[in-house]
Amino acid sequence: MLQQTRVVAAIPYYERFLQRFPDVHALASASLEEILRAWSGLGYYSRARNLQKAAQQIVAKHGGQFPARLQDALALPGIGNYTAAAILSIAFGEKLAVLDGNVARVLARLGAIRGDLRESARWQELQETADRLLDPESPGDWNQSMMELGATLCTPKSPQCLLCPVAQFCEARKLGIAESLPEKRKKRPTVEVTLAATVFTDEKGQTLLLPPPKNTREKTSADHVPTLVSKMWHFPTLSVAAEPAAKLLAFLRRLMPEVQRRKWQLIPAGKVRHAVTYRAITLLPFLIRVKKLPRLPGARQVPLSDISGLPVSNLTRKVASSALAAAASVPAKN
Ligand code: SF4
Repeated sequence: MLQQTRVVAAIPYYERFLQRFPDVHALASASLEEILRAWSGLGYYSRARNLQKAAQQIVAKHGGQFPARLQDALALPGIGNYTAAAILSIAFGEKLAVLDGNVARVLARLGAIRGDLRESARWQELQETADRLLDPESPGDWNQSMMELGATLCTPKSPQCLLCPVAQFCEARKLGIAESLPEKRKKRPTVEVTLAATVFTDEKGQTLLLPPPKNTREKTSADHVPTLVSKMWHFPTLSVAAEPAAKLLAFLRRLMPEVQRRKWQLIPAGKVRHAVTYRAITLLPFLIRVKKLPRLPGARQVPLSDISGLPVSNLTRKVASSALAAAASVPAKN
């Protein structure tokens, strides 16, 4: 949970998650839908999927105990070098040094290392430095100290060198360049994406959500959509370049050939902005008021005012809020 999420934001999720899935067996045997619902709001849902796959492997192959050997830990879904080193050093005292963004920043400053730290040769060098510095007597404590130093004193902006316990060894401090290290990474250019989504609503305030898309070639999903809805339940959504309402209508007719002649009025329901990694998304929700919801293969009906009965992404929540606001301002036709 703490990858990409701040501690204060993660704590309530963590507590709820542990209450519902108190051990590896509970997590391994739960339905994925329930896990995603508990994760809903944290983003980066592949972490939740991997967590369950890892739990299932731990139960099936390791008798419900986290494996103590490095190669077994690395074989678990979602466990890379950093996570394996952190778990094995802290839980089992293995001599493995962690290297993440925080630790890399500390090491780059200690050695006054310039350039993009994520370049593979440089990252490898940093890993070797971290391995060399590791205290073999207490690798877990050492790793936690390095992470803590990066999180509390050797912070990205305004490092507190006067309070730093390793200031006397720090090259960047001696050279007066601590604040300018690490040097900025080359950023991937932002890609603008426009999507249009349909929010049906019937007289009871129910709406329709489509099931998680399986892959990008799935008929009900266009480019970007599976990634942007985080492979979760979502409104019928389409990538559009122009004429969103017309494109959306054509899309709905392809999805539901039996309603070809239905004259739907698409009511623009605001604009939702959202960012996912390098994509800047503009999502245009359209409200369609109907007496009875149309039949859509695999779709489920949920109240528009509370779609949390199914696992949904933050983007889908924003679409629902925008549609609800629009529905309140446009009186329903009788
Ligand atoms: S002296 Fe300053 S720059 Fe160097 S490790 Fe300590 S906090 Fe970071």
